[in-house]
Amino acid sequence: MGISLIILSSVITGLLYLFSKINQPTFPEFWIILAQVSGLFGTLFLSWNYIVSVRHMILEKIFGGLDRVYKTHEFFGISSFILLLNHPLFLIINFLPFNSTSLYLLPGRNLAYTFGVLSLYSLFLLVSFTIFVKLPYRFWKLTHEWTGIVILLALFHAYLIPSDISRYLPLRIWILSWNSLAILAFIYKRFLYYFLAPKKTYVVENVVQDSNYLVLTLIGDRQNFLRFNPGQFAFFTINGKGADREEHPFSILEQKDNYIKIGVKVIGNFTLKLTDLKDGDTITVRGPFGNFGEKVQEAKEMVWISGGIGITPFLSMAPSIMPDQKVTMIHTSANPESRLLTDKLTEHAVVNPSFRFINHLTSLYGRLNADNVCRRFNLTRNSYVFLCGPKKMMETFAEQFSSYGISRKRIIYEDFQLR
Ligand SMILES: Cc1cc2nc3c(=O)[nH]c(=O)nc-3n(C[C@H](O)[C@H](O)[C@H](O)COP(=O)(O)OP(=O)(O)OC[C@H]3O[C@@H](n4cnc5c(N)ncnc54)[C@H](O)[C@@H]3O)c2cc1C
Repeated sequence: MGISLIILSSVITGLLYLFSKINQPTFPEFWIILAQVSGLFGTLFLSWNYIVSVRHMILEKIFGGLDRVYKTHEFFGISSFILLLNHPLFLIINFLPFNSTSLYLLPGRNLAYTFGVLSLYSLFLLVSFTIFVKLPYRFWKLTHEWTGIVILLALFHAYLIPSDISRYLPLRIWILSWNSLAILAFIYKRFLYYFLAPKKTYVVENVVQDSNYLVLTLIGDRQNFLRFNPGQFAFFTINGKGADREEHPFSILEQKDNYIKIGVKVIGNFTLKLTDLKDGDTITVRGPFGNFGEKVQEAKEMVWISGGIGITPFLSMAPSIMPDQKVTMIHTSANPESRLLTDKLTEHAVVNPSFRFINHLTSLYGRLNADNVCRRFNLTRNSYVFLCGPKKMMETFAEQFSSYGISRKRIIYEDFQLR
């Protein structure tokens, strides 16, 4: 549905552009058309980029998962940047050799151009911080808090610039509406989300730590708690004096009424702060999110592969396996790790004959690959593969399983690196 909406908005933009040309005495030159089309679609895609960045369950439903929403957001960030960069370049080409780059690429010519040029440069900085310069997550997030400037400048540019497009009222209204919607989305995400998004307060009941792994037990209100499906996750914020509003996603290991458990690997600032939590401290939980576990219901034969902390969503999924389903789960790690999380799955395999659990140590048995998994466990093209772990591991397995003949639709993964 998400893709259909994007296509529909693009088709309407294209049609309005064509209508804007119908009553004109002359058709513009080729490069002007390219400049106008790239400017229009660049603005539309930039607006989509903001709209999909709103972390809302409706978007998750429309796009089929929050990770897909983030991927769409990334796609729109890059494509709008390429289109908007081409917009002034095509104008320069059109007027060559009687033009200078400074007319379209430097601010100062007039207010409308200045807004356009500044919008382009600020977009360039943001895209660079996301793709080329791998900033630590916290600093990258800070840069993203200022993204509203880009769309605001683009809106002023679109509003002020005189062109044959801007003279066609329906197209002008259409593009300005998208810009305004994007600004509203930004204001919601930047300023209102923390107050308005559905959330519940949970109290820390217990923290168990083993080396750099933690299991936290949290209790919600008995009457008013969040309900999670297997494989789902939520965003967690530590409350209290000195705590900031930083929220981080973690999968739910287990839910029993108003009790939830999460399993955490300590890798940085926030996860380190979780180790200091004491019984009675409070945490804000926003969710539920994710649809990783949904496809399990329609699958009969599955292999689940986890790497490192990617084991967590499978802990809540394992008890949902039905007697007519067959699951082989393989957890891979280089060396023996904490048993805080793996023990639960070993125990589950003892009581549920449909579920088999294997802890695969690569230091002892070498690297796992799709070929030996398929042969050893007699997987067929109708089998489903669920992957969660380091990005590289998931990409390699997805590639291998699909060349083995398992359709991409049956290879489902949970990405722990949302940007
Ligand atoms: C859907 C999902 C489910 C997850 N489930 C678990 C889980 O069950 N157990 C677990 O230990 N980890 C889980 N993670 C990963 C966890 O969110 C990060 O390890 C944690 O946020 C790291 O924060 P940090 O400050 O300790 O480390 P940092 O060094 O700041 O971050 C390390 C990496 O974690 C990611 N990250 C950091 N902050 C955020 C954030 N606010 N939002 C999204 N990603 C962020 C980034 O990719 C970053 O590069 C999950 C991530 C996602 C997206």
